[in-house]
Amino acid sequence: MTKKRVVILGGGLAGLSCGYELSRAGHEIVVLEREPHVGGMASSFIEDGEEYWTHDFGPHRFHSSDENLIEHVKEILGDNLVWAERLSRIVLFNKFFDYPLSAKNVLKNMPPLLLVRAFLDYFAVRFQDRLGLKKFDDKSFESWVTRRFGKTLYRIFFGQYTEKAWGMPPSQISADWASQRISLLSLADTVKKTLFPGKGGTPRTLVRKFIYPKFGGIGELARGYARKIEENGGQILVNSPAVRVHHDDAMHVTGIEYGRHRRETITGDEYINTIPITSLVKALSPAAPAEVLAHVNALQYISIVFVYLKLRRETVSPDSWVYLPEKHLTVHRISEFRNFSKTCAPQGKTMVCAEITCRRGDEIWRMNPEDLEKLAEKDLMSVGLIGPGEIEGSFIKRIPYAYPVYDLEYRGHLAPIQQYLAKLGGIVTTGRQGNFRYNNMDQSVEMGRKVADEILTGDRTGHEAVATGKEYFG
Ligand SMILES: Cc1cc2nc3c(=O)[nH]c(=O)nc-3n(C[C@H](O)[C@H](O)[C@H](O)COP(=O)(O)OP(=O)(O)OC[C@H]3O[C@@H](n4cnc5c(N)ncnc54)[C@H](O)[C@@H]3O)c2cc1C
Repeated sequence: MTKKRVVILGGGLAGLSCGYELSRAGHEIVVLEREPHVGGMASSFIEDGEEYWTHDFGPHRFHSSDENLIEHVKEILGDNLVWAERLSRIVLFNKFFDYPLSAKNVLKNMPPLLLVRAFLDYFAVRFQDRLGLKKFDDKSFESWVTRRFGKTLYRIFFGQYTEKAWGMPPSQISADWASQRISLLSLADTVKKTLFPGKGGTPRTLVRKFIYPKFGGIGELARGYARKIEENGGQILVNSPAVRVHHDDAMHVTGIEYGRHRRETITGDEYINTIPITSLVKALSPAAPAEVLAHVNALQYISIVFVYLKLRRETVSPDSWVYLPEKHLTVHRISEFRNFSKTCAPQGKTMVCAEITCRRGDEIWRMNPEDLEKLAEKDLMSVGLIGPGEIEGSFIKRIPYAYPVYDLEYRGHLAPIQQYLAKLGGIVTTGRQGNFRYNNMDQSVEMGRKVADEILTGDRTGHEAVATGKEYFG
């Protein structure tokens, strides 16, 4: 084997898993990471002073049905691992609905008139569709879901949550989102399963047990990879944003310029990109053609502001996370890390993470931490999750590129960008950000490892097919 120097852009799970496999095989790895820490969206933060706390970016559970991948993760985490029991609920009409739904719980909690209307709507729409009595289109999220579940279920379980979480009308969201992997979709799946037990298997979102680090939060996985890459002689350069991707006239990548104040250029035999596809194209030097940049500027992302509340009480609920779909609440989901691993909060205290979606630069994004804390406190008090005076501290975190927006036009913008990038030699783009794809941690790990395998074997096929299926958690 000829030893290669491989430069990886982005130290999230896709970049690190790829770097680990290549370093293990004897290649020289350099990872460029913009943030002061590795992990990307699957990062975690540890406070280890008088008290020990850890927190993640919202709820992160690792699951895969691939036994090899599970073994691989066990190898990275070593004995720092628990199999956590997943419990989650949905708050609607001031009631807690089990998730997955149970018939007893739904019948008890759902207002009876609404229940009847949901049944009637569901059967009407299925009847019309089956007999071709009404023309439905599957273009938007709204039309896709309404066709399958009727207006009432759509409105209760999908419409309001989706509009809140995406910050745009569901009629403007591509049906790809619904048909691919909305987590609440499996809620309706569960409704169906409640009504018609015995049909189909367990959706991925309903998996009960998941892997989680015993200490240190979900970021332990990324830290584990980083440690192993360094043990294998590789380098992880944090605080090192890639700012220019240089290429020659033949469109072959020749080097990466990186750094904040002092810029340096690094060269490699191969380059792997896991930073947002939009950032990659904008960093190209010479610049990408104007029409490609116009497509890049048309792709959008949803951002998230995370409000962390430290509370003077043992626990808020037994749930790993709770969905808050109702419109009058700003927060759309909360998670409680103590319910992932008991070590995440000190005895007698707990931390809740409230998620608010927004767009980078909008009112929520710019809101000051005190106002965000008040907003989260008001929402959580109004659904009875916390009481007055329980907050002993709070802080916020923001991530700009949380979810790619699958609007009705995104495919038309993404395809020409991908076609253009396919001409770029010496670099492979992968991972959630590199593909503009809504995928899970396990799939980012799988993509990273597949790309490594392609470099090692010379068989350049396969990584693009990861996470094109129909199941997503987040
Ligand atoms: C709120 C939330 C909850 C989720 N819950 C789950 C869950 O329960 N289970 C699950 O499996 N998945 C979950 N996910 C998805 C999971 O977090 C991602 O699939 C996974 O972490 C993506 O890894 P990645 O390496 O592909 O991308 P990223 O983690 O985004 O990594 C990209 C990296 O590139 C870095 N970067 C960006 N720009 C530059 C630059 N210019 N130069 C250098 N570095 C740069 C970033 O800082 C980042 O570290 C969730 C996601 C979110 C947002």
